[in-house]
Amino acid sequence: MGNSAEKSKISTSLDFRAVGKQVGHLVVPHSTNTSAWGAIEIPVAVISRGEGPTAFFTGANHGDEYEGPIALSKLIRSLEPEQVHGTVIIMPALNLPAFRATRRLSPIDGMNMNRAFPGKGDGSVTSMIAHFVSTRILPLADVVVDIHAGGKTLDFLPCAVIHELDDDNQMSKTLAAQEAFGAPFGLVLRELDAAGMLDTTVEEMGKVFLSTELGGGGTATPETVAIAEIGVRNILAHFGILDEKPLSREDRGMAPMRLVHSPHEQCFTSARDNGLFEPFRGLGDEVEKGDPLGQIHFIETPERDPLIHHAGRSGVILCKGVPGLVGKGDCLVVVGEDYKDK
Ligand code: CA
Repeated sequence: MGNSAEKSKISTSLDFRAVGKQVGHLVVPHSTNTSAWGAIEIPVAVISRGEGPTAFFTGANHGDEYEGPIALSKLIRSLEPEQVHGTVIIMPALNLPAFRATRRLSPIDGMNMNRAFPGKGDGSVTSMIAHFVSTRILPLADVVVDIHAGGKTLDFLPCAVIHELDDDNQMSKTLAAQEAFGAPFGLVLRELDAAGMLDTTVEEMGKVFLSTELGGGGTATPETVAIAEIGVRNILAHFGILDEKPLSREDRGMAPMRLVHSPHEQCFTSARDNGLFEPFRGLGDEVEKGDPLGQIHFIETPERDPLIHHAGRSGVILCKGVPGLVGKGDCLVVVGEDYKDK
């Protein structure tokens, strides 16, 4: 665990408790061969009218996921202090070095931002950013929304994502926020390796945490951007920060959010060899256990039969791998089963 008393090397001209609209940077010192006294300037905005709840939004925790940076930079430009009760803090590109490099992980220290929490004040660049967020921003927040997508290697049905939490009160508040977001799907995860995640750090503080998986493939679509834009406004409305009602799926003439989970190992189909994957089924298809999902071709030994991969469970195809060429162990398909709230 990082030590919260550790001093941060990051500086900022922003006052996270001040009333008004401030758009500036977290300045992360970074001395390189091309910039001796250089720094990385991570964009951040604080929009506040004082008393009231605080929401914190982040995008590009992984650098190749784009709905967050698009929707959140729009929010920074459109939201004014007189519209809010409380405070909105926005970081549209949390892992800016990864975003600039169009990569999931930081090219500077190779770190996954979502395994760097709570971070270290004197750590590498990714770790310093995580530490600043953990010690200076998260303590102020009542709700945190971290907007993810599948990145270059995965594609998802658009979903708002929460974790199964042991505290019933925190779980019901989190489920309500997930529904308010207004995505077509809600995914409930039981994380296998939760250490180092922003998610875990926020949840352990007893706050409401919401993540998303809004498409992927290293791009964004009009639909996924709209889900992100409506979602962040809905969260502000749900927590009373915006004086309006969340725009529900029902109000928009849409089917209610479908709540799913992937609780079994067999929900995940991984490549059993290296080769070229031919999908038989697409995102959103309903499959039965045993259905063929696709096959891996061995183009350099074309006399060899393709290796067929079958569904390990019945459900909806929630996520699929993007690259055609796959390596043994790569995620090909994830099936979601309907989740019954306990
Ligand atoms: Ca992600």
